[in-house]
Amino acid sequence: MAITFKGGVHPPESKHYTEDKPIERIPAPEVVYVLLSQHIGAPAKPIVKRGDVVKKGQKIAEAAGFVSANIHSPVSGKVKTIDRIPHFLGSYSQAVVIENDGEDTPAEELEPHPDWQNLSPEDIRNIVAEAGIVGMGGATFPTHVKLSPPKEKPIHTVILNGAECEPYLTADHRLMLENPDEIVEGALIIKHTLGAERVIIGIENNKPDAIETMRKSAEGRGIEVAELKTKYPQGAEKQLINALTGLEVPSGGLPFDVGCYVQNVGTAKAIYDAVVKGIPLIERVVTVSGLAVKEPKNLLAPIGTKLSELVDACGGTSGEVGKVIMGGPMMGLAQWTLETSVTKGTSGLLLFPPEMASVGEETTCISCASCVDVCPMRLLPTSIAHNAKYGRFEIAGKLGAMDCIECGSCVFVCPANINLLHYIRWAKLELRKMAKK
Ligand code: SF4
Ligand code: SF4
Repeated sequence: MAITFKGGVHPPESKHYTEDKPIERIPAPEVVYVLLSQHIGAPAKPIVKRGDVVKKGQKIAEAAGFVSANIHSPVSGKVKTIDRIPHFLGSYSQAVVIENDGEDTPAEELEPHPDWQNLSPEDIRNIVAEAGIVGMGGATFPTHVKLSPPKEKPIHTVILNGAECEPYLTADHRLMLENPDEIVEGALIIKHTLGAERVIIGIENNKPDAIETMRKSAEGRGIEVAELKTKYPQGAEKQLINALTGLEVPSGGLPFDVGCYVQNVGTAKAIYDAVVKGIPLIERVVTVSGLAVKEPKNLLAPIGTKLSELVDACGGTSGEVGKVIMGGPMMGLAQWTLETSVTKGTSGLLLFPPEMASVGEETTCISCASCVDVCPMRLLPTSIAHNAKYGRFEIAGKLGAMDCIECGSCVFVCPANINLLHYIRWAKLELRKMAKK
């Protein structure tokens, strides 16, 4: 039987556009634009300069502190410049711009370790850090940091997140169908690194083929594959832990507080690539979909590929584009240009026509409590938002604003079109500022 958490919503899945489309590798672009800030933490520091010749997989920027990540060149060629380009969070940010020489000359900086069982946890953390791996489900938290929980918080359960609960996105679905053995091996490497006892791969039951494929691959390897009910936000860390183990991460806490570690299936594959094959994180699968894309696809693209080139690889746009989203429609980020580039966290690129971009006018709350019913964190979204709107941030904080996981479920169901999340995010921002004073 499929398991789940309390609350949540059922937005139209819209996965049929790409779920049967095998991952297609796009030719590496003539020029790549590799952002230095594409993970949580400090932007990486460039270690190349204009005119330098670089190899594919060569480190071009290094982590600027513990919570940061190395960045590698996805092509071989010459550094054209280091300049500001549009950033997916808005505004502009530094990127290493590299002209591809088309030779794919490998750097071979990382050593392959098919015998990874002989490596110590510290060795594996170092390889993962060196390979620049970050959470590929969109969180982009540096993985070597996540693999280093406090000593007093031992991990008993590793959970691989194959829920992919955001509508439209099918990148993880295809990865599970096409690379199940690498994902399973990546999960075992994580288990070995953390000294965990149990590994569970959670997959929503709208992907029965992925459940079957992963079960076959995991057979006899001490890994459970669990069927999750299709419901948004099933892939959120706290909801996933609760559904799969019954444990509840405390308010303000992290998964390691209940002995759990959650990692996306794509990240597990990246860990496999780095540890077993010696390949750093230089490419990823991106679902390009939405009603304004001519031929939606799952593309394997070098990090640094311009979003416009992804759209070109899908035959261009069909009609006018009214909205562009990087990621999924529920938690993704609206983009103002296609001139930014693919990063390690780019799971999707969605283009919609203008009629799908318009939001109804905000009206008065009718106290229907729909937002309360669906909130997976059991918060009172309407009360938090109302207090934030009138500047009563302390009250919003007491109501649990900081526990909001920003899933947008409350906004999705609100009949009054109130952008509750906008107000809650504002409260969180102000509360963080107040905490710093
Ligand atoms: S209040 Fe936060 S956690 Fe609750 S439904 Fe709204 S966005 Fe999701
Ligand atoms: S869903 Fe909207 S209208 Fe209903 S209680 Fe919440 S804020 Fe008010």
